[in-house]
Amino acid sequence: MAGEPQEDCLFCKIVAGTIPATIIRQTDTTVAFRDINPQAPTHVLVIPKAHYENAAALAAADPALTADVLREAQAVADDEKLDSYRLVFNTGSGAGQTVWHVHGHVLGGRGLEWPPG
Ligand code: C5P
Repeated sequence: MAGEPQEDCLFCKIVAGTIPATIIRQTDTTVAFRDINPQAPTHVLVIPKAHYENAAALAAADPALTADVLREAQAVADDEKLDSYRLVFNTGSGAGQTVWHVHGHVLGGRGLEWPPG
């Protein structure tokens, strides 16, 4: 069923607490944790606790939860005292998506080039 935890999903396991992560924020519906391979001084992933493959699937299924994720990304930026930051949802393997549980990358703390590589 849409949103149900997936047995083979790394980020569902982080939500369940069965694999470790440096969690910095948590709400009823979301978790924010530090990326294990940071690409900037602040690199935090914000995920819904419910499992959706990508941002489009999340938005189609649950607009309120989509808003929760976006609100938490701003809360991370506030906590990290970022004046500006980049919020990235890699979507599809061609764009670099490697984990199939939607996650927003909050990147900040250094200058960020545009366009990204
Ligand atoms: O957008 P993409 O799917 O490539 O992002 C997955 C991210 O998850 C990577 O930046 C990777 O470093 C991170 N990751 C993590 N903790 C894990 C496994 C992956 O922070 N246990």
